[in-house]
Amino acid sequence: EAPTYSMMLRTRSPGGIIPWQLYLTLDQLCDRYGNHTLRATTRQGFQMHGILKQDLKTVIADIVKNMGSTVGACGDINRNVMAPPAPFKDRPAYVYAHEYAHKLADLLAPQAGAYYDVWLDGEKAVTAEAPEVTEARNKSGRGKRDTNIANSDEPIYGTHYMPRKFKIAIATPGDNSVDLFTNDLGLVVITDKKHKLLGFNAYVGGGLGRTHNNESTIVRMADPIAFVPLAHVYEFTKAVVAVQRDNGDRFNRRHARLKYLLNDWGVEKFKQVLSEYYPERLEPLKPLPKWQYLDYLGWHEQGDGNYFVGISIENGRILDREGLKLKSALQEIIGEYHLPMHLTPNHNALLCDIKPKDREAIQAILDRNGILAPEQVDPLVRYSMACPAFPTCGLAITESERILPSVTDRLRKLIDRLGLGEEKFITRMTGCPNGCARPYMAEIGFVGSGVDAYQLWLGGNFDSTQLAAPYLKSMPLAELETTLEPLFVYFKQARKPKEGFGSFCARVGFDGLRSFTASYVPQ
Ligand code: SF4
Repeated sequence: EAPTYSMMLRTRSPGGIIPWQLYLTLDQLCDRYGNHTLRATTRQGFQMHGILKQDLKTVIADIVKNMGSTVGACGDINRNVMAPPAPFKDRPAYVYAHEYAHKLADLLAPQAGAYYDVWLDGEKAVTAEAPEVTEARNKSGRGKRDTNIANSDEPIYGTHYMPRKFKIAIATPGDNSVDLFTNDLGLVVITDKKHKLLGFNAYVGGGLGRTHNNESTIVRMADPIAFVPLAHVYEFTKAVVAVQRDNGDRFNRRHARLKYLLNDWGVEKFKQVLSEYYPERLEPLKPLPKWQYLDYLGWHEQGDGNYFVGISIENGRILDREGLKLKSALQEIIGEYHLPMHLTPNHNALLCDIKPKDREAIQAILDRNGILAPEQVDPLVRYSMACPAFPTCGLAITESERILPSVTDRLRKLIDRLGLGEEKFITRMTGCPNGCARPYMAEIGFVGSGVDAYQLWLGGNFDSTQLAAPYLKSMPLAELETTLEPLFVYFKQARKPKEGFGSFCARVGFDGLRSFTASYVPQ
């Protein structure tokens, strides 16, 4: 008998926007064809696990017919374009961020009809692509080297697509909810005093995937490159993609992301090559306020008289279990009130466009199903992320999503015992070094290195503007408390006012942490 293959499917949802019709469809599909859960991802999409290969066509067709898509959500191509999840209607920077997340997603969407031939019997979905985007995609570049590939059905990608996946995020000034610097291309909305969109500050060459025991694989934050005037944003984006398309390593996948070009060439050479495709002057970046990490949980006014409510989803998993009926609650609220959902880059969800008269009834549904208000969620859970790993990810070396809750419980006991119970810590865990939950930006990052063992990364900060570094190559999970206790005690004794744990570790340095640990007598 032929084996029954089970697949994972991921949605393409620029800016994390999930129309209500799509949410209800996904909710039904995961019951009928999947594992009865939905997984919010760290790039603002949904994953469905456990779909049998024979059911894929039905599932994908249903998604496309209900205002969704999966095209370009995986593969060596531009991935889901991220944007701050908040649906503020009266803050133009947020409106622009969402507008351009969609436009850049459309600009770089694959054009070949194979997706529709395979999954929809050739029936093309109706797209609402802006004419300016179609024109920009098809227009040849004006640089010495063309951004477009002549006579190709795929004017930007050509016949071979990209050397590796390509990730874009758009941020608003000061709001780093998208983890801007971890992307191949990060764009920050720049407006004038009257809120007119002027263009974008551009950052290039971030990326977090690496391989254990392979020192040539690196984690890297994006470098500031230039301010890009609005009139040139498509040309600039295509030029960055074309530099990577034409120069990225096509022989070694572990060395193929754009970050390796930046690392190997340096920023100046990158700019020089970029200028062959992008003939405009690279203008200095515009000044920006300090970055902050925002998660938007709880109730907020959205600026048009309506509200949105942010819900914490532990590990991004939407399911029903004893005491927490999250899946049922979302189905009831979205089914009754037809609310769009915005997924956040921290695998949480915002329910948007809530009329003031419905607020009380919606809160009652959340309460009845055990969904906690943000102040009731343990901050260790609120600021944690885990990738799926076992049993659904074929690359997993060890557990992540299934074990993080017990690790969080142990951390809670430890910090309470040490008198640090009021502190906030960003903890992230992955089951392999690919880094899907961005552990390399965390204050405490656990990166699966063997069965029940993790590399320990320390030194990221709360606002995600600083890379962590590997403190231990492999920490058996059984040694969690003995490893972290001296570090927490040292932090308590020697921190500066308001200094977070990650910044403390970066300031005192790993030699300092190690020498304190060596002389530490357990409490
Ligand atoms: Fe899978 Fe590794 Fe990504 Fe986790 S980090 S989901 S184990 S590829």
